[in-house]
Amino acid sequence: MDYISQIAFIIVLGIVSYFMYKRISFIKRNIALGRDIDRNDRPAERWKMMGLVAFGQKKMFKRFIPAFLHLFLYVGFLVINLEVLEFVIDGLFGTHRIFAPFIQEYYFIPMNIFEFFAVAVIVSCIIFLIRRNVINVKRFTARELTQWPTLDANLILIIEIVLMVAILTMNATDQVLQTRVDTYPQTGRIFFSALLMPIFEGLNVSTLIAIERIAWWFHILGILGFAIYITYSKHLHIFLAFPNTYYANLERKGRMNNMPEVTKEVNMMLGVSQPEANEEPPAEIGRFGAKDVNDLHWKNLMDAYSCTECGRCTDQCPANMTGKLLSPRKIMMDTRDRLEEVGRSLDAGGEGLNDGKTLLGDYILKEEINACTTCNACVEACPVNIDPLSIILQVRRYMAMEESSSPASWNAMFSNIETSFAPWKFSPSDRFNWADSLKEEK
Ligand code: SF4
Ligand code: SF4
Repeated sequence: MDYISQIAFIIVLGIVSYFMYKRISFIKRNIALGRDIDRNDRPAERWKMMGLVAFGQKKMFKRFIPAFLHLFLYVGFLVINLEVLEFVIDGLFGTHRIFAPFIQEYYFIPMNIFEFFAVAVIVSCIIFLIRRNVINVKRFTARELTQWPTLDANLILIIEIVLMVAILTMNATDQVLQTRVDTYPQTGRIFFSALLMPIFEGLNVSTLIAIERIAWWFHILGILGFAIYITYSKHLHIFLAFPNTYYANLERKGRMNNMPEVTKEVNMMLGVSQPEANEEPPAEIGRFGAKDVNDLHWKNLMDAYSCTECGRCTDQCPANMTGKLLSPRKIMMDTRDRLEEVGRSLDAGGEGLNDGKTLLGDYILKEEINACTTCNACVEACPVNIDPLSIILQVRRYMAMEESSSPASWNAMFSNIETSFAPWKFSPSDRFNWADSLKEEK
């Protein structure tokens, strides 16, 4: 590789690093807009959860065939990135297949493993494209999958196919060159690309070198461009799945997080507890529940960035199944879209959270929130331990406690609980009246 290529590679690497840094800082700042919540307890359980769910893909295997195909993409991504390491070192130092002389006759082993996964990735991506665009699997045709999410999913699959084809082309031309130019390091037979060698054998050396170099540049530029692209895409879950499962809620599903201030009031009202002597008056609560993204806690916001838009949650949601407007996937997508909007506005020196819009109202409708049965099926189904119910409950809490805008029948029940300590409109003193009739019967 000549000096110009080396300098060009270093410049490209610098530009990509800059954009990656900018985008990661943007996402980190956006997540930090959320309220605080402690998720650093029980580290051993958290590591185990991350190992099983993110690294081991445990929840994916509830559906075997897609899980298997996804596993090829996931392992392929990890394994092929090892090959990218050689690309980067070659690019920086102007070498060609720097590892080949070190591991000599064993070099063909990792190369064949990389190529096996490259082919597996191509096959998996083609099947996923067919499922999305030809078979039209129901969860990929929901109303929240508008133009961009659908295009994003298709683009990423096509890019992965093209990048893998570039690797095979590069290896095929390289193997032909090894038979003609002494200075090319010997790789040994690399099975899948060797099948393509007949296509290139009729070409002269300079054309082969040009194709090999173009494929090399195409692959490395593609990988670097892909690295920036995924930070704007649902594929950010490739990285965020790990911290997201680590910081997941470890409480039993179905356990609601009551507000301590409210619990205390209710206990005093019911006579279960009394205020302590000289007790400080409770601090002012900023807002009950969540109206906008900054009312949610940071883990909710990390969830939004980690969502793969797979729709497994919506697929299991009883409200969605029975034709209600609610889709937990849309709740996550709306939260991320609102967060991105606020972040962009803040970066541009705009109004940010004070732009007159809010998550509830401008993105999520009350009708969606009211349809939730709090069954937790979405949380159970999510392959990266996202908790859409947590967002729904916080927004619902805002609607009930700040706006009193819950359905009229709910509001009536809330007042009964407040005044009669029960959902029914009977005075507590009348609660045992039914027993009087028993006495009369005697
Ligand atoms: S908890 Fe709500 S959103 Fe989640 S599956 Fe059940 S009904 Fe749907
Ligand atoms: S919340 Fe989980 S299950 Fe639902 S679409 Fe996102 S990643 Fe898939």
